[in-house]
Amino acid sequence: MTAPSETPISLTRTRTPNTRPADASLSFGKVFTDHMFVMDYIEGKGWHDPRVVPYGPLTLDPATSVLHYGQAIFDGLKAFRGADGAIRLFRAQRHAERLNKSARALCIPEMDPGLVRRSFEAIVAADHAWVPSSPGTSLYIRPTVIATDVMLGVHPAHSYTYFVICSPVGAYYKEGVKPVRILATDTHVRAVQGGLGEAKTAANYAASLSAQQEAERAGYTQVLWLDGVERKWIDEVGTMNIMMRIGDEVITPPLAGTILDGVTRNSILQLLRDWGHKVSERKVSIDEVMQAGRDGTLREMWGTGTAAVVSPVGELGYKGETIRIGQGQTGALTQKLYDAITAIQYGRAPDPHGWTSVVKAPVTA
Ligand SMILES: *Cc1c(COP(=O)(O)O)cnc(C)c1O
Repeated sequence: MTAPSETPISLTRTRTPNTRPADASLSFGKVFTDHMFVMDYIEGKGWHDPRVVPYGPLTLDPATSVLHYGQAIFDGLKAFRGADGAIRLFRAQRHAERLNKSARALCIPEMDPGLVRRSFEAIVAADHAWVPSSPGTSLYIRPTVIATDVMLGVHPAHSYTYFVICSPVGAYYKEGVKPVRILATDTHVRAVQGGLGEAKTAANYAASLSAQQEAERAGYTQVLWLDGVERKWIDEVGTMNIMMRIGDEVITPPLAGTILDGVTRNSILQLLRDWGHKVSERKVSIDEVMQAGRDGTLREMWGTGTAAVVSPVGELGYKGETIRIGQGQTGALTQKLYDAITAIQYGRAPDPHGWTSVVKAPVTA
């Protein structure tokens, strides 16, 4: 039982709109727009009452189950204002479907994907003036579902809240795409087969914090995660998917239960195939990559995710050894992928796969 995709979404406008910060002052996820989307679920009634309301605190009983056991999922996508003034969402349908995939993994009742997609459009339309326009800026959209039962028993909840908040974000790369140093860890594990690695859930982020802190203390930016059983196969980097170019092959770990099915990963694999590159979704060991680094065949390595699009890896550390990749510079293919994806997002290039959708902003303010 669920609200169907065409369910009307009500709109209550704020009476105290905030002043939008200047584009140049924007960073990531610190400022939020005037409104939020909310929808509730109660067992027996299903998802109901989709609405756009003034942004504000949620009131939760201290015994609310999500606060104790983490039954929570989220996603993250962006809206871009093009040079033509149009606001485009990037792959909204795929993000809506992935939210449901995460829901299944955490026993959260699914929503109609069409309604989820409309929730993104409704909140962006209501706060369209908040979509920044300077190069590289965007509106980050954060859909989230939390369990709201007031009880301390451990089982899937009977009530949930879905909300969507938005944050205008600054250019990720203010001075051009910049490589990072990453550290492969064989002491911490992010996810294992049969666990939650394929879901976008708070628990995975909680599991990543101490390794991330250790990497930062050692002078690195991100953790390169290895599989939890053999501590040998590469999974992901930080909260991004990972790709490497060894010789003429672009390799990325397969979707086999422990990594997230990234929308950026999927988009990049499609572009690489369009361009005729040899692309392999296969297991790749840390030893293979370190060896390729030593013998000079590791030409490029980069992370992929909505926030950065691509994040080139300039240095990789593992067991006390450090290899430099592409003299620590952004590789040509990495840069080409960044340019191609962002050109589609901002409407500067044709969109042959139909990844973007224009949000109709209300004509009257
Ligand atoms: C969100 C996320 C990614 C990147 O996914 P995109 O859809 O490309 O933003 C990769 N890995 C993890 C663990 C993530 O949470």
